[in-house]
Formats: sequence, structure tokens, C-alpha cells
Amino acid sequence: MGRRQLLLLPDDDLDRQGLEAYAQYKRDVPATPSEGDRDYVACVTQSLAEEVESGHAPATWEFTVFEDPTPNAFALPGGKIGVHSGLLDVAETDAQLAAVLGHEMAHVLAQHSNERISASQVADLALLIADATTDMDPQILAGLGLGAHYGLILPYSRAHESEADLIGLDLMARAGFDPREAVLLWRNMEKNASEEGAGPEFLSTHPTYRTRTQDLDRRMPRALHLYHEARARGRTPWCRR
Ligand SMILES: [Zn+2]
Repeated sequence: MGRRQLLLLPDDDLDRQGLEAYAQYKRDVPATPSEGDRDYVACVTQSLAEEVESGHAPATWEFTVFEDPTPNAFALPGGKIGVHSGLLDVAETDAQLAAVLGHEMAHVLAQHSNERISASQVADLALLIADATTDMDPQILAGLGLGAHYGLILPYSRAHESEADLIGLDLMARAGFDPREAVLLWRNMEKNASEEGAGPEFLSTHPTYRTRTQDLDRRMPRALHLYHEARARGRTPWCRR
């Protein structure tokens, strides 16, 4: 997005921590037994991953669908993605799921974890990460974006959330998912959060629905252009649950 960033951690260190955090999460939360749900998420993830440009992109993206009723998802440095089964009820279409996964992948692509851990208020985390052994410190897990599960909320800043929204919007459009579905997704999320009284990562400090949709609307002409180009190139994903 043309912004300057303070990145103190070597990519390798952070990727390694991402892998370890993912392994720990997999030990703590059961994976879904539903093959249909796995195939569905695979379809959306692969469609998005094909459109990710190199640079800071992980060489491979991997995902797990976890058996958890909260509508949440995360992506860790190194390209490890987690999707809660509850998200599949709130994201009503493949394009809405692509909006969430595009947002989470954008946090990785824009190196938000590194930037967050490098920021002064969490500078200790850089040391913790350098020292991390087998059982990961909850602060590290939170720094990587898994705080909600481990009881320590360290949300992304609003600036990071807005940036992830816009990068994610472009990404879903380039993959051939209708970017207008992103607005519907955030509306569903807001509705669900107000009913359930709980907030996933992307709503914790997230811009209000109003700000968020205004930002998305401003970017929409560009995203629609990318979408129509993608469809013309044959990017016509068809993912069904
Ligand atoms: Zn986010």
C-alpha cells in the first residue's frame, strides 16, 4: 500500500514461529471431520493462492478447518491458515469466504505480525520469539494473531485491518470472486457479533461496519475492474459447500 514499515524480525524466525504456533493450535483444537467442508475451503484457498504475487508470499499455503463454532479465521506467517467451522455458516457464499480468507492472507502478505511485534509496545515479544522453546508463550501466540484462543487479545491495529481489507478485496477480485460480496460478508459478521456478543479477530478493533463499507465502496470500482478482467481470463471459481 506504499506505506513505510518497521520490521525488526528476520522472516525466517517469524515463519518458524508461525509453523510452531500452527502445530500447537492443531494440538489444542480438533480438526473438522467433514470432508465436504475441507474440500470447500480448499477450493477457495487455492483460487486465492494462485493469484498471490511472489515477494513476501509464502511458498505454499496450507489450511486446516477446525471444529469450533465461532466464526473465526487466521493466517500465520509462513502461510498457515486456520478456518473455524462456525465461519462457514456466517460466510454464506464462496465469495464471502474468499473475502475473509483474502483479508487474513493479506495480514501475512503485508507482514503485519512482524510490524506489530516490532512496534514499541510489544518490543519484548521480539526477545520472547528469539528465545521460544517448545511451549509457546501466550504473548507470542497473540503477537502472531492467535490471542483470542489463548486468552490474550493483541488485536491488529485499525490501520492494519483497513489495509488487510483493501489488499484482500483486490485479491478476491483477481481470483474471480465478486468483490461486492465482501460488503455482505462484513454485514453478516456484524449481525452475528451483535447476536452472539462475541467478536472474532477481524471485529475486535476492526473498523466499524460503516467505516469499513465506506472504505470498501471507495475501492470497489478498481476491484470490479480486476474482477471483470479475471473472469475474462477464465478465473471462474466454483466452490460449493
Ligand atoms: Zn484482520
